[in-house]
Amino acid sequence: MNNCIFCKIIKNEIATNKVYEDDDILAFNDINPKAPLHILIIPKKHIPSLEYAKKEDIEVLGKMQIVAKEIAIKNGVIKDGVRLVLNCNKGAGQEVFHIHYHLLGGRTFTWPPG
Ligand code: 5GP
Ligand code: ZN
Repeated sequence: MNNCIFCKIIKNEIATNKVYEDDDILAFNDINPKAPLHILIIPKKHIPSLEYAKKEDIEVLGKMQIVAKEIAIKNGVIKDGVRLVLNCNKGAGQEVFHIHYHLLGGRTFTWPPG
Protein backbone atom coordinates (compact mmCIF):
# COMPACT_ATOMS: atom_id res chain seq x y z
CA MET A 1 0.00 0.00 0.00
CA ASN A 2 2.89 2.40 0.81
CA ASN A 3 4.17 2.20 -2.76
CA CYS A 4 0.79 2.89 -4.31
CA ILE A 5 0.98 5.88 -6.68
CA PHE A 6 -2.68 6.75 -6.19
CA CYS A 7 -2.37 6.65 -2.37
CA LYS A 8 0.55 9.08 -2.77
CA ILE A 9 -1.64 11.36 -4.91
CA ILE A 10 -4.34 11.24 -2.19
CA LYS A 11 -1.71 12.23 0.42
CA ASN A 12 -0.41 15.04 -1.88
CA GLU A 13 3.00 13.34 -2.05
CA ILE A 14 2.67 13.38 -5.86
CA ALA A 15 1.27 16.50 -7.51
CA THR A 16 -1.72 16.16 -9.79
CA ASN A 17 -4.49 18.20 -11.32
CA LYS A 18 -7.49 17.44 -9.07
CA VAL A 19 -10.94 18.02 -10.51
CA TYR A 20 -13.07 16.71 -7.61
CA GLU A 21 -12.46 15.77 -3.98
CA ASP A 22 -14.58 14.81 -0.99
CA ASP A 23 -14.01 12.70 2.14
CA ASP A 24 -14.20 9.42 0.20
CA ILE A 25 -13.33 10.14 -3.43
CA LEU A 26 -10.72 11.93 -5.53
CA ALA A 27 -10.80 12.65 -9.28
CA PHE A 28 -7.88 13.96 -11.33
CA ASN A 29 -6.60 14.20 -14.90
CA ASP A 30 -4.88 11.11 -16.29
CA ILE A 31 -1.18 11.82 -16.92
CA ASN A 32 -1.38 10.07 -20.33
CA PRO A 33 -4.83 10.96 -21.71
CA LYS A 34 -6.53 8.60 -24.19
CA ALA A 35 -9.29 11.10 -25.06
CA PRO A 36 -9.74 14.91 -24.88
CA LEU A 37 -11.32 14.32 -21.46
CA HIS A 38 -9.66 11.57 -19.43
CA ILE A 39 -10.30 11.67 -15.70
CA LEU A 40 -9.45 9.04 -13.12
CA ILE A 41 -11.93 8.58 -10.26
CA ILE A 42 -10.61 6.76 -7.21
CA PRO A 43 -11.79 5.92 -3.69
CA LYS A 44 -9.57 7.21 -0.88
CA LYS A 45 -9.72 3.69 0.55
CA HIS A 46 -7.01 1.51 -0.99
CA ILE A 47 -8.79 -1.33 -2.81
CA PRO A 48 -6.27 -3.04 -5.15
CA SER A 49 -8.76 -4.04 -7.86
CA LEU A 50 -12.41 -4.93 -8.39
CA GLU A 51 -11.46 -8.45 -7.31
CA TYR A 52 -10.96 -7.12 -3.78
CA ALA A 53 -14.05 -4.88 -3.57
CA LYS A 54 -16.39 -5.89 -0.76
CA LYS A 55 -20.08 -5.36 -0.07
CA GLU A 56 -19.10 -2.57 2.33
CA ASP A 57 -17.61 -0.73 -0.70
CA ILE A 58 -20.91 -0.60 -2.62
CA GLU A 59 -21.67 2.96 -1.48
CA VAL A 60 -18.32 4.46 -2.48
CA LEU A 61 -18.25 2.61 -5.82
CA GLY A 62 -21.75 3.90 -6.58
CA LYS A 63 -20.78 7.43 -5.56
CA MET A 64 -17.78 7.25 -7.92
CA GLN A 65 -20.16 6.66 -10.83
CA ILE A 66 -22.27 9.67 -9.87
CA VAL A 67 -19.10 11.79 -9.56
CA ALA A 68 -18.14 10.60 -13.08
CA LYS A 69 -21.54 11.65 -14.41
CA GLU A 70 -21.25 15.09 -12.78
CA ILE A 71 -17.75 15.65 -14.22
CA ALA A 72 -19.02 14.59 -17.68
CA ILE A 73 -21.92 17.05 -17.45
CA LYS A 74 -19.62 19.84 -16.24
CA ASN A 75 -17.35 19.27 -19.23
CA GLY A 76 -20.26 19.22 -21.70
CA VAL A 77 -19.48 15.76 -23.07
CA ILE A 78 -22.25 13.55 -21.68
CA LYS A 79 -24.81 14.03 -24.48
CA ASP A 80 -22.32 13.06 -27.20
CA GLY A 81 -21.30 9.99 -25.20
CA VAL A 82 -18.76 9.07 -22.57
CA ARG A 83 -17.15 5.84 -21.56
CA LEU A 84 -16.62 4.75 -17.94
CA VAL A 85 -13.98 2.03 -17.80
CA LEU A 86 -12.69 -0.15 -15.00
CA ASN A 87 -9.79 -2.44 -15.88
CA CYS A 88 -9.65 -5.33 -13.40
CA ASN A 89 -6.26 -7.03 -13.14
CA LYS A 90 -3.37 -7.34 -15.57
CA GLY A 91 -5.12 -9.24 -18.38
CA ALA A 92 -7.63 -6.38 -18.70
CA GLY A 93 -4.88 -3.74 -18.79
CA GLN A 94 -4.80 -2.67 -15.14
CA GLU A 95 -1.42 -1.07 -14.37
CA VAL A 96 -2.12 0.79 -11.13
CA PHE A 97 -3.43 -1.51 -8.42
CA HIS A 98 -5.69 0.97 -6.64
CA ILE A 99 -9.20 0.57 -8.02
CA HIS A 100 -10.23 3.39 -10.37
CA TYR A 101 -12.68 4.35 -13.06
CA HIS A 102 -11.49 6.01 -16.26
CA LEU A 103 -13.95 8.65 -17.47
CA LEU A 104 -13.29 9.19 -21.17
CA GLY A 105 -15.06 11.78 -23.31
CA GLY A 106 -14.75 14.31 -26.10
CA ARG A 107 -14.45 11.84 -28.98
CA THR A 108 -16.31 8.86 -30.41
CA PHE A 109 -15.50 5.36 -29.19
CA THR A 110 -15.52 2.03 -30.93
CA TRP A 111 -16.95 -1.21 -29.64
CA PRO A 112 -15.72 -3.73 -28.67
CA PRO A 113 -12.69 -2.16 -26.96
CA GLY A 114 -9.28 -3.65 -27.77
P1 5GP B 1 -4.96 1.28 -15.55
O1 5GP B 1 -4.11 0.85 -16.72
O2 5GP B 1 -4.42 0.77 -14.25
O3 5GP B 1 -6.42 1.01 -15.73
O4 5GP B 1 -4.86 2.86 -15.52
C1 5GP B 1 -3.88 3.56 -14.83
C2 5GP B 1 -3.88 4.97 -15.35
O5 5GP B 1 -3.16 5.78 -14.45
C3 5GP B 1 -3.22 5.13 -16.72
O6 5GP B 1 -4.16 5.67 -17.65
C4 5GP B 1 -2.05 6.08 -16.45
O7 5GP B 1 -1.84 7.00 -17.50
C5 5GP B 1 -2.46 6.77 -15.16
N1 5GP B 1 -1.35 7.19 -14.29
C6 5GP B 1 -0.29 6.41 -13.91
N2 5GP B 1 0.52 7.11 -13.10
C7 5GP B 1 -0.05 8.33 -12.94
C8 5GP B 1 0.35 9.50 -12.21
O8 5GP B 1 1.36 9.56 -11.52
N3 5GP B 1 -0.48 10.59 -12.30
C9 5GP B 1 -1.63 10.57 -13.05
N4 5GP B 1 -2.36 11.69 -13.06
N5 5GP B 1 -2.02 9.48 -13.74
C10 5GP B 1 -1.24 8.38 -13.69
ZN1 ZN C 1 -3.59 2.97 -3.09
